[in-house]
Amino acid sequence: MRREKVAVTQSLTVLVTGGAGYIGSHAVLALQQAGYNVVVLDNLVYGHRELVEEVLKAELIVGDIGDRPLLDQIFSTYAIDAVMHFAAYAYVGESVSTPGKYYRNNVCGTLTLLEAMVDAGIRSMVFSSTCATYGIPHTVPIPEDHPQHPINPYGATKLMVERMLADFDGAHGLKSVCFRYFNAAGADPQARLGEDHNPETHLIPLVLLAAMGRRKSISVFGTDYPTPDGTCIRDYIHVSDLAAAHVLGLDYLLKGGESAQFNLGNGNGFSVRAVIDAAKQVTGREISVVESDRRPGDPPVLVGSSDRARTILGWNPQYADLQTIITHAWNWHQKRHA
Ligand code: UDP
Repeated sequence: MRREKVAVTQSLTVLVTGGAGYIGSHAVLALQQAGYNVVVLDNLVYGHRELVEEVLKAELIVGDIGDRPLLDQIFSTYAIDAVMHFAAYAYVGESVSTPGKYYRNNVCGTLTLLEAMVDAGIRSMVFSSTCATYGIPHTVPIPEDHPQHPINPYGATKLMVERMLADFDGAHGLKSVCFRYFNAAGADPQARLGEDHNPETHLIPLVLLAAMGRRKSISVFGTDYPTPDGTCIRDYIHVSDLAAAHVLGLDYLLKGGESAQFNLGNGNGFSVRAVIDAAKQVTGREISVVESDRRPGDPPVLVGSSDRARTILGWNPQYADLQTIITHAWNWHQKRHA
């Protein structure tokens, strides 16, 4: 079924679930800058109220995506044109030890959200997926048609949502763009927003916390991988470039685009040691490194091909350089922990 084309105007309203989180908050900023009205739904389990209320000055509704009465109330109160869906638990290790929490929130919660959208007549969703849906890649850079065999429950929950979205399109004409991120990193170039997880498990913020002296050292998880320096290689993508892609994905849907999936990465791999060296240069600080065992579930190399997003959406990352990504993260961390 071909949908009627809708002109993108300045007055459309987007519900951003998880808009108080790391990637979601940067997307809220990008949406605001593109002229959209934004309503944030976040349960604040991991999100930061002050980023939404004080920095973004967006409307914040505190609650769960699985709360159907709340969703109905939101959809009857605000004229929501589309949903950008970030709300999810995202700790791989925790998903292995507590899978029920992940399936309940990420899968059941999203199902509730999708049903509420259908009943409210909302037919556009931009979904925050992940390269973790691919599992261990057999082709690098990974294209979107690479088989998806996640190796942890977190990746499985995201893949299940991708499948639900395909079925909701078939049955209800709900169109979606799924973005499979590689390693989100960096911070708003003006340091208004940035990464602040508790607990923090990601490499770049941990390295910077070590540089600040807030942690004693950084552990390198595995030095015997089949890579040039023995450490894992990842494709780090600036969070503001991710946010820009989400606005392009939304515009694409609102102009009548069919459901689609896009990788978002720079296509360049950097090893753990390369990241630590770059952080030493950016910060000018000594960073103490401890070589540790491999972390279970880490593929040796994850690098994505984002040609599809570039070609179809016209996406063009502005901050592809690792030094720039780390510099922006460093500026944010210094401000946050001043
Ligand atoms: N890593 C590490 N030490 C840490 C945290 C991460 O060596 O304290 C490695 C991790 O094994 C992976 C890479 O850094 O190879 C990126 O990990 P991160 O958790 O940032 O992102 P992921 O790739 O798991 O999404």
